[in-house]
Amino acid sequence: MATETMSRCLACGFEAPAGADAWSSVQHPPLGEMTQCPECGSTETRQL
Ligand SMILES: [Zn+2]
Repeated sequence: MATETMSRCLACGFEAPAGADAWSSVQHPPLGEMTQCPECGSTETRQL
């Protein structure tokens, strides 16, 4: 089953497949790598 997981930015509503090149990522030392919205720079994302 190829289920594509989408992620959405909670700040601006940007959506793209989770882990896609469309997303940026930032390093947060305690948490590791976090997904960052390329549109607004928020790391408040949720997998749909
Ligand atoms: Zn955003």
